Amino acid sequence: MSRDDAVVRRMSELLRSGAVMLDMACPLCSAPLFRLKSGEIVCPTHGPVKVVRDDSEAIEVRSRAILDRLEALAASRISEIAEMLSRENDEGELLEKLERWLEVLERVRRLKPAIAKEERK
Ligand SMILES: [Zn+2]
Repeated sequence: MSRDDAVVRRMSELLRSGAVMLDMACPLCSAPLFRLKSGEIVCPTHGPVKVVRDDSEAIEVRSRAILDRLEALAASRISEIAEMLSRENDEGELLEKLERWLEVLERVRRLKPAIAKEERK
């Protein structure tokens, strides 16, 4: 089942359960949002979402999602490279890549609290 099919199926489940489709889009994936009977607002993909008040807030939410994704990507690349280092001889190139990914990881982790702080204002 493709990702889109999964989203469509989730949307029809939401409608069947009495949720109402809203004239608002998820700030992360742009899918339509639904209001559950409980009043909670959910995205068919991301589940409960914080409804954004304006564009700058949407940008913050999106920035955080990008940083989360980059952090996960960097972590998985670093572990892949570490794995390769343990069995390959071409260390020079691998170490260079490792260093670059570590830089990405470090920068992402430095940026994340900055964004969180901005949100609290
Ligand atoms: Zn979403």
